[in-house]
Amino acid sequence: MVLDLPEVLGFDGFAPLSDSSVEDFIKSAIPPLHVKRVTRVKYDPQIRLTTRYVKPDTIWAKGLVVIGEARENKELHEVEIVIRPRSEQDSQEDIKRVIAHEFGHNVFASVLTSESQKFWKQIVQVEWTAEELVRFAYAEDPKEEAFCDSYADYVNKIDIFNPHHPNSFQFLQEYVFNARTLF
Ligand SMILES: [Zn+2]
Repeated sequence: MVLDLPEVLGFDGFAPLSDSSVEDFIKSAIPPLHVKRVTRVKYDPQIRLTTRYVKPDTIWAKGLVVIGEARENKELHEVEIVIRPRSEQDSQEDIKRVIAHEFGHNVFASVLTSESQKFWKQIVQVEWTAEELVRFAYAEDPKEEAFCDSYADYVNKIDIFNPHHPNSFQFLQEYVFNARTLF
């Protein structure tokens, strides 16, 4: 059986990860349902990103984070994930985290129902502080960014999943990764 994996390109020779190690990461960490629609994951140092990206984050970055974008082609129902290095000191973990964050956008847009999206936003409203959300102020929907960051934490099995976000964690565990239908 041929797995429906996105084409991965551009990492060889530029990133601290190879194309094949990115493929392995996707295969082992991202559930097939969440990969659907994503046709390409591309590393491109030259790319100009327009809308979605991950800003430097106090926990991770020390100011040195790769940035990325999930570009949706609404007509073709396809998503291309583009990753750009932020500095030569980007670590493998930084890059994997951004890849996972961008898959989170695909999950938010095409896996969650609109009711589930609403439920997530209610959780953020209650559980996240204004200070936590301010770093997503660049985005049109900071609560979607909060989802993608939580998704990336979950995927990377980070022990630092924010202990003040128990309901966010539970949402991911029960409704995103166990794919229980909410409503
Ligand atoms: Zn984002």
